This record gives sequence, C-alpha cells and structure tokens, in this order.
Amino acid sequence: MGYRDWFNKHADKHERIVQKLLVRDFSEKEIIDYFDFKNMVKMEVDFCRLYKDNKKCHDMDSLNCYLCACPNFRFKDEGIQKIENKTQYSVCNIESKDGRQGVYGEKIHQDCSGCGVPHHRIYVEKHFDLDWKNAMKKCAL
Ligand code: SF4
Repeated sequence: MGYRDWFNKHADKHERIVQKLLVRDFSEKEIIDYFDFKNMVKMEVDFCRLYKDNKKCHDMDSLNCYLCACPNFRFKDEGIQKIENKTQYSVCNIESKDGRQGVYGEKIHQDCSGCGVPHHRIYVEKHFDLDWKNAMKKCAL
C-alpha cells in the first residue's frame, strides 16, 4: 500500500472514532484524552498496527495518537526529487532536529523514529481539528 492509500484509510478510521465520540457529546478535551495511547490501545485496537502488541511508536510516557501521522510529514508516492541516483520520497516540513533522512538502497525516506513532536498533548491541542485531514493541511501552511 502506498502512503496516499494509507493516509486515506487512516483518515476514515480517525473520522469513525471522532464521530462516535461526538455522538456521546465528548468535548474537545475529552476527545484528546480518548486518543491517549493508554486508552486507545484498549479501546481502538485496529487504529494502529502496534496496538495489538501493546507497543508505542515512540518511547514517551504520555503519548497522544490524535495527530498520527505527523502533520509535518510530506510524502509523494511517485517521489519528491532525485538526489544523485536515489529517489527522495518523504521529508519533514519543519526539519525537526529529531528527524533524519534515511537511505534505504535507492530510496530516501524521512525517518521519524527519534521524533515525538506530533505525540505531545500540547502540540495536539495547538493543532486540533475535528477533521483530521484539515489538521494535517493546516500544519502544512
Ligand atoms: S521528524 Fe518529527 S516533526 Fe518531522 S515529520 Fe517526522 S515526526 Fe513530524
């Protein structure tokens, strides 16, 4: 599956959860609380492939899943540019000091494994939008 397909499928899953919570009259704060890893891993096991193993994507005490994937992640399935004989597929829009470009054979991908930016609650609060795709777009500005 390419990134665009994953992105659209993830948006659908996200929307289903948010709509369910809105029907229950959850406030913005309660929605953000719900998306905390400790709750999501129990309540929404299909949301992330790591949940079934009770694993976090980043080693953080408090990890929020609302803005996964990161709004700063830029990806083109067809490639962004050629760098020498390699194709770059993804970058970090804010050039986070905790991210890096990983080279995998002929491919260059953004490696976010050391960066927890989108998982901090304060970041989620700042960029919150009920529509996950909008939240992703807003951060692109
Ligand atoms: S390096 Fe950090 S801020 Fe940049 S795209 Fe990855 S997770 Fe987001």
